[in-house]
Amino acid sequence: MFTKETTERLQQLETPFYYYDLDLLRETLAVASGEAANRGFKLHYAVKANFNPVIMKIIAGYGLGADCVSGNETKLAVECGFPAAETLFAGVGKSDREIETALQLGISCFNAESVEEIGVIDEIAGRLGKKAVVALRINPNVEAHTIKHITTGTDENKFGIRIAELERVTALLEEMENIKYRGIHFHIGSQITDLHVYRNLCLRINELWEWLTDRGLEPADINVGGGLGISYEDPDRFPPFADYFEVFSRHLDSRIQSTISFELGRSLTAGCGSLISKVLFVKPGARETFVILDAGMTDLLRPALYHASHRIENLTSELPPRKYTVVGPICETTDTFGKYIELPETRRGDLVAIRSAGAYGEVMAMRYNMRSLPASVFSGDKGLIIRQ
Ligand SMILES: *Cc1c(COP(=O)(O)O)cnc(C)c1O
Repeated sequence: MFTKETTERLQQLETPFYYYDLDLLRETLAVASGEAANRGFKLHYAVKANFNPVIMKIIAGYGLGADCVSGNETKLAVECGFPAAETLFAGVGKSDREIETALQLGISCFNAESVEEIGVIDEIAGRLGKKAVVALRINPNVEAHTIKHITTGTDENKFGIRIAELERVTALLEEMENIKYRGIHFHIGSQITDLHVYRNLCLRINELWEWLTDRGLEPADINVGGGLGISYEDPDRFPPFADYFEVFSRHLDSRIQSTISFELGRSLTAGCGSLISKVLFVKPGARETFVILDAGMTDLLRPALYHASHRIENLTSELPPRKYTVVGPICETTDTFGKYIELPETRRGDLVAIRSAGAYGEVMAMRYNMRSLPASVFSGDKGLIIRQ
C-alpha cells in the first residue's frame, strides 16, 4: 500500500489525516459484490462504517444498497447516488423527524426494533399519506463470540424484537393500516471472525422462517445483517467474502424463496484506510519508551473505546527494531495505540501509519481538547486528492 513514492508524497502533507487507497477499495467491492451476486444475494453497505462522500460514491457505483442508522445517513446516501429504493433505515431510537425524512425520501424499508416504534411509524406514515414498508429486526439470541461491546444479538442487548414478543408483534402488524410488512432483519454483532456463528444464525433463521410462513407471514426479504470481521493483525489479508457467503448458501433452508440481503460495513472499508501521523517526541519512561504521535484518540477512537488494536507501521525508518508504547497527545491515559510493540527505531518526524482504519475511524473523530478533525487524502490517478 505504501510504495516509496506514496510515502514521499504523504510526507509533504500536514498530519494527521486519513489516507484511503481507492484501488484497494474498488478491488474489495468488486470481490464482495461478485461473491454475493454469484449466490443470488443482495449486498448493502452499512454507511455508519465510513460516510466520507468520496468513499460512499464509489460504493454506490458498485450497485450496493445503503443501510443507514440515522436520518442524516439516509439523506447522504441518496445524495451520494444510492437509490432511495435500495436504502434501509435501522436503529433502536429513530426520532419522529428522522422517520419523516425517510418517508419523504421514499426509502425502501424501515428495520423496526420495537412494537412501540412500529406504532409511531404507522401514525407518521398515516399523517403524511404514505405507506411505510417495515421489516422486523429480530434479536435471535445468537452469541457472536466477538468483543462484548460490539455484540448486538443476545438477550442482554437493547437491539431488536425478542422472539418471545413475535406473536404479539405479528398480530399488531395486521391492524396497522399504513404499514406494509416486508420481512425480517438480523444483525448479531461486528468483527465476527468465527464463521460458525453465522451457521448458528442460519439455523435460527430457518426456524423463524418456518414459524412465520406457517402464520401467513412468509418474509419477502430476509436481511442477515453484517459483521464479517477482518484481520487487524495482518492488515494486508483480504476479508474471506467467499467463505462467508458460502455459509449462508449452505445452511439456509433450501425451501426459502425470500431475497437474502447482507449489510457489510467494516469488511468493505477497513482495509483501504490508514491514519497517517508524525512522531512528535520519543520519550523515555520508567519502564517503557513512549512514541508520542500527533494523532490521538480524537482521530481514531477504537483503541480507547474497545481496547481494539491496530497494526502500526513506521513508514520512514529502516533501523533495527525496538519496543515502544505508542500514544497520542490527548489528556487521557486511554489515548494509547499500542503497548510494548515492535517498531524500527523511531525518531521525531518519522511518518507512521495506523492500519485497517477505514471503518469506524474517521466517522468517530471528535473535537475533544479542541482538536481539529482529521483531513482525508485519497490515492488518485494523478497523485493524491486532498479533502479537508
Ligand atoms: C453496524 C451495522 C452493520 C455493519 O456491521 P459491520 O460489522 O461493519 O459489517 C450492519 N447492520 C446494522 C444494523 C448495523 O448496525
